[in-house]
Amino acid sequence: MARSRRDFLLGLGALAASATSVGAPLVTTTPPELLPRSKRQRVVVVGGGWGGLSCAAHLRKSAPELDVVLMEKNEAFWSCPLSNKWLADLVDTRYLVHDYAAAARAYGYTFFQAEVRAIDRDRRLVVTDGGTVDYDWLVLAVGIRQDYGAWFGDDSRAIDHARTQYPSAWQPGREAAVLKRKLAHFEGGDFLMNLPPMPYRCPPAPYERASLIAWLFKSRRIKGRLIVLDPNPISPTFRRIFAERYKDQIIYVPNARVTAVDPFNRKLSTEFYEYRFNDAILMPPQQAGELLWQAGLIGRDSAGRSTGWAAQDPITFRASRDERTFLVGDALGPVSPLFGHYPKSGHAASRQGRIVAGQIAARARGDEAPPELPESVCFVFPDFEPQEMVRIESHYRVRGDGLIEQTMRQFPDPNPRDEDIQWATSMFREFLAFKQ
Ligand SMILES: Cc1cc2nc3c(=O)[nH]c(=O)nc-3n(C[C@H](O)[C@H](O)[C@H](O)COP(=O)(O)OP(=O)(O)OC[C@H]3O[C@@H](n4cnc5c(N)ncnc54)[C@H](O)[C@@H]3O)c2cc1C
Repeated sequence: MARSRRDFLLGLGALAASATSVGAPLVTTTPPELLPRSKRQRVVVVGGGWGGLSCAAHLRKSAPELDVVLMEKNEAFWSCPLSNKWLADLVDTRYLVHDYAAAARAYGYTFFQAEVRAIDRDRRLVVTDGGTVDYDWLVLAVGIRQDYGAWFGDDSRAIDHARTQYPSAWQPGREAAVLKRKLAHFEGGDFLMNLPPMPYRCPPAPYERASLIAWLFKSRRIKGRLIVLDPNPISPTFRRIFAERYKDQIIYVPNARVTAVDPFNRKLSTEFYEYRFNDAILMPPQQAGELLWQAGLIGRDSAGRSTGWAAQDPITFRASRDERTFLVGDALGPVSPLFGHYPKSGHAASRQGRIVAGQIAARARGDEAPPELPESVCFVFPDFEPQEMVRIESHYRVRGDGLIEQTMRQFPDPNPRDEDIQWATSMFREFLAFKQ
């Protein structure tokens, strides 16, 4: 379970105190500086995903006078967009995995591979196991966390078992490779996939993944069933594809909310039924990334309950509780009573990163940036043979009463020609300096 920022910082103090009381060498509460203080104003961006990478690259373009540091825990960038097709070798790995150091060199910022453990907002320090980095401006682009605690409480054995044996592959990193291997070796039986309750990252992507897996079973003649447990409403397009093309491969269960999971005995229960599975993709509820909880930047609803997502200004993306901190990407909380959250998409995260770069560049000069809203484009494949694609576009405007309004349009394309790869390539060119 998440500890609060205060608990975490107190924890560091307690560690130091216990170490000295048993005669161990003195441990100071302030770890060493990882970087010397800069003469220039420093922006630290935590999280090298779609939002953080975009922000770092655009900061270097729009404010070359600032010192920019990107901190990321993974050794390489893994793209979630395109990853479903990659599971079935429909996309080459060179589109999926990219080098952080090459991007940092191309744009001229400092890249640190490190997991940030805490933010000391009072002293403006980013804290890692190896030491601290000071900042004038902070960008937190840490994506989501998967709330296994909702299923297992603090049973770390069950959490580890579910995470490692039945990974969701819903966050950037090696889980995608684990899932790819599983699918390649699956010989038959019941493969279970539950969807998390809304809101979650990239809502159409689990359905796309279900179609992909069903198509793999069908085309490889695997005697397998994919059991899809869904607590949310499904789109008519996917309902049609599941029922018409994959009726022998997919068992789709609507109104299926998970009530218990036993990963050791491969059992999952909903309010109505207990399912046994041979293999699974287990997807717990999603929330804002861990660090935002430790930094004390999670929002509350009107009844005072945690929203599970960050609290920020919907236009400047400044954290509601800290004017030196900006928030980007899927971790954001609701932005409008008219539609709730911005789409939790890579495209939207990247546009928010660019907007935040403009905000910080202006504020560092003592100016104010003009308001700008993000947009989102998303390519979804309801089926793979023959390929069918839908482009989903979302646009935003501020209405006369000050509320943000969303216009969403879908463009079905029964004859696609790698438009998704072209889109991703142009995004990677923009924030990873990707060259083909
Ligand atoms: C299967 C799938 C398909 C998708 N398809 C599309 C698509 O077609 N189009 C689209 O636009 N979007 C798509 N998405 C959604 C897209 O991946 C996300 O919206 C996007 O990644 C959000 O960007 P982000 O920067 O907020 O988070 P992320 O990309 O998750 O980046 C967060 C980064 O922060 C790092 N981090 C977290 N905590 C720390 C810490 N404490 N210290 C250091 N580093 C840390 C993480 O390692 C990670 O690299 C898809 C998602 C999935 C799962």
